[in-house]
Amino acid sequence: MIDPETLMQYMLSLRHAGVTNRDVLNAMERVPRHLFVTGHFRDRAYQDVPLPIASGQTISQPSVVGRMTQALEVGKRHKVLEIGTGTGFQAAILSHLARRVYTMERHRILARSATRLFQEIDLVNVTVISGDGTLGLPEQAPFDRILLTAAAEDPPSILLAQLRVGGIMVLPVGQTDAVQSLIKIEKTQDGLEYTELDKVRFVPLVQGMAND
Ligand code: SAH
Repeated sequence: MIDPETLMQYMLSLRHAGVTNRDVLNAMERVPRHLFVTGHFRDRAYQDVPLPIASGQTISQPSVVGRMTQALEVGKRHKVLEIGTGTGFQAAILSHLARRVYTMERHRILARSATRLFQEIDLVNVTVISGDGTLGLPEQAPFDRILLTAAAEDPPSILLAQLRVGGIMVLPVGQTDAVQSLIKIEKTQDGLEYTELDKVRFVPLVQGMAND
């Protein structure tokens, strides 16, 4: 259980940081972040900060998750692909907004814990795939929405090819050791339209499976 005061402060911090879409806020309110972090970091689960997780990765800052989700404009009928499951926090939020969510993770150990957690909290419309997200999921393509939660040096063309015409992709672009740009790409009949949204910092998108 989250105490109501903590939850209220958390929701306020999200609004102050620009997460204003009501559906996104409702979805975030339904996903208890303390279930996605472990050990002594649990005490900080409702602060607007990124936190370390297993395999040297991070769970993103809640307000960044909120702004990315907002930018993705997810609808109830959408099939969404997320690259970079991590703890599964972002995927859980997407599951309350979309029809179906596929999320890929290159660390099997993270994919396994996320799968277990989704079963525990009864999220039945999310599928976790242990796999290299740079290849996407051709057997389920095309997707209405694609979200990367790891930074690419360029928008991966393999993933853009798996995006439906009319679809939206949101991703951090840039080098790992520098400030990255959060980019929104809309795929239209005439091609791709790019919008730069925010400055962010994410762990890198790495090709191939990890050893754990
Ligand atoms: N969305 C996560 C946080 C993402 S951290 C959450 O809500 O907790 C970024 C994740 O992307 C890391 O777990 C990292 O292992 C993963 N990642 C990096 N490159 C990847 C790739 N090629 N395929 C799949 N996952 C990848």
